[in-house]
Order: sequence, then structure tokens, then C-alpha cells
Amino acid sequence: MTTTIEIEPLSLTLRTPFTLSYGTTTVRENLLICLRTGDDVALGEAAIVPYYGITAESVRAHLNSHAALDAVNRDPLHLDDALDALSSIPSSFARAALDIALHDRWASRLGQPLFRLWGLNPARCPATSFTIAMDDDEAAYRERVRAAGQRFRLLKIKLGGPAGWESDWRRVQMAREVTPAALCVDANSAWDVPSAQQIIPRLGELGVVFVEQPLPRADLEGWRALRRSLPPDHPPLFADESVQGTDSIAPLAGLADGINIKLAKCGGLRAARQMITLARAYGMQVMLGCMVESSVAVTAAAHLAPAVDYADLDANLLIANDPFEGVLLDGDRLILPDRPGLGVIRHAAA
Ligand SMILES: [Mg+2]
Repeated sequence: MTTTIEIEPLSLTLRTPFTLSYGTTTVRENLLICLRTGDDVALGEAAIVPYYGITAESVRAHLNSHAALDAVNRDPLHLDDALDALSSIPSSFARAALDIALHDRWASRLGQPLFRLWGLNPARCPATSFTIAMDDDEAAYRERVRAAGQRFRLLKIKLGGPAGWESDWRRVQMAREVTPAALCVDANSAWDVPSAQQIIPRLGELGVVFVEQPLPRADLEGWRALRRSLPPDHPPLFADESVQGTDSIAPLAGLADGINIKLAKCGGLRAARQMITLARAYGMQVMLGCMVESSVAVTAAAHLAPAVDYADLDANLLIANDPFEGVLLDGDRLILPDRPGLGVIRHAAA
């Protein structure tokens, strides 16, 4: 029986405008894919992330390509063969969508949730952190931090505002004043080496748990200079934008203490699992993150959460119109669905 790839626009509205160093987002236009084989449907999602320079049109073209159709028409149980067939697709965003759907179909056919087929214990999922975007309204910002800190043990404070590192530092001080929750920060590539040298030791004094992506993505020389100049007890440095696929881990060995893996960057679950293994071999910590995505892509990543140190899987909480239900939260604890495959279901109203 032939499998077809249906592509639907998936327009996600943020609950509050989401401001990072790259700009402000209110709506994201992702793509949902359904692999349809007779009555069986498997789901995948492509995040469309403007600051990665991709468009829905380009991803759609990859999802409609010969390589994609070839992959989804392989034997559903020969998952590795199907995933190999995706390797010629250059867009990691398109590959991730197809990889997620192929994993959903494989595990559904086997009648088990994905995490179980990998032998993972769902009770070992780390709590998810919650992201606090930048906001110029100080009173509103303090209130958002305070409220989030009542539910989440770890808050990710987005930094890298246009006013420079002193303003970023004041932002973290403000957060520190209003919540007892643990804080980590994400500069989203915004600092240069001198700024990072100034702020990171100060963040350490405020008890910040780790610092994510302090420097521009390709600036490995900067990472090296920063590393040499920081005091020995500085907070661990995590790479996010500097880590794309498996190939980008070795150059960061000795420079980054941890990596943030996202399915959309690395091309899906198989690559993410390889990256976890490789990062461990280099003694790095592992965080699992997400883009602005619905419960389809967030749940796919969550199935790997028992294998990592930190989960930053809050995107489905940040959007107001998620058509799906998958991974749930009890407080800040990730509850993986026990249904076969991804275990994602569409809300009746959607
Ligand atoms: Mg990040």
C-alpha cells in the first residue's frame, strides 16, 4: 500500500510576544506532515525558524521531494533503511519532520511508545525548564518571573538585549530578587568575548546554573579565548546555535561543557540519539531543547528526555492554539504519553 505525505500549515500563536536577541515573534508558521497509509496516519512537524534563514516554501519542496517519497514508502519496520533514505535531503528541518513521522509509524506498528522501544525509563525525565523572554516592561517582567518560579524549578532567562551586558546582568539580578527558582541564561549568540568575560563571572556569583550560547555561532576562536580567561568556578557553558548536527560536537570538545540538542537542527530523533552518545563520550552534559513547536515535535523530543540532563521542552506551553496533546506536565515534571508511537492525539475541537 502506498504512503502519501500530506502537508498542512500549522500556524502557532504565542501566548505572549516572545522576544529573543533575534527579535520578537507573535506567530510562527510551521508545517505539519501526515504520512497516510490507508487508514494509518503518522505525524511529524517542521519548525519554520526565520532566524535560521529558512522559508516554509523551501521546506515544503524538500518534503515533496523524491527522496522523501522514497523514504516513507520503505518497510515501516525497517526504520533505519527509511531514515538512511532521508540523508540526501539537505534541510534538517524537513528531515526532522520526516524522521519524527517515520519513528511515530514504526513504534505505532510495534504497538509501543517510542521511549519504551529505546529501553528508556520515563520516570527519569528531568524536569523541564521554562523560558522567560525579554520584556522592557519591568513590572510585567518581574511578575512573569515570579509566577513561573512558583511552578518551575529552573527558569531560562533570555538575554542578549540591545542595551549590552550590563542591562542583561540587571535583568538576571531582577529575576533573582523575585524568585527562589534556579536560573540559567541563554544569550542566543549576542555577546562578544569582552562582554562575556564581564558578565559570566557575575552570573556565577548570582548562582546561575549554566550559560547558553554566549558567543556567535561560528566563533570557535572566541569560545577558546573566553574559556582561557574565565575563573575556574564559572558556570558551565552550553552550546546551542554552535551545535547543529553530529559533526559540530568534536570541534566544541574542551570549549563547551554541554550541548543543546534540537530535532529541527540535527534532523530528527536518530541524529539526536547519536549526538547524545557522542556528547557523553566527550564528557559533555546534554540538554534537549525545542523551537516554537506544537505538541507533535515537542513530544517527539520528550521521548528522549530520560537520556539527558536538562529538558527545555516548554514550547507547547508558550503557544495558545496547540491542536495536539502529547507530553503533559505535572508541575514541571514531564509525563510521557503511554500510547503507541509518539502518542500524540489531535484535540477534538481542532
Ligand atoms: Mg538556546
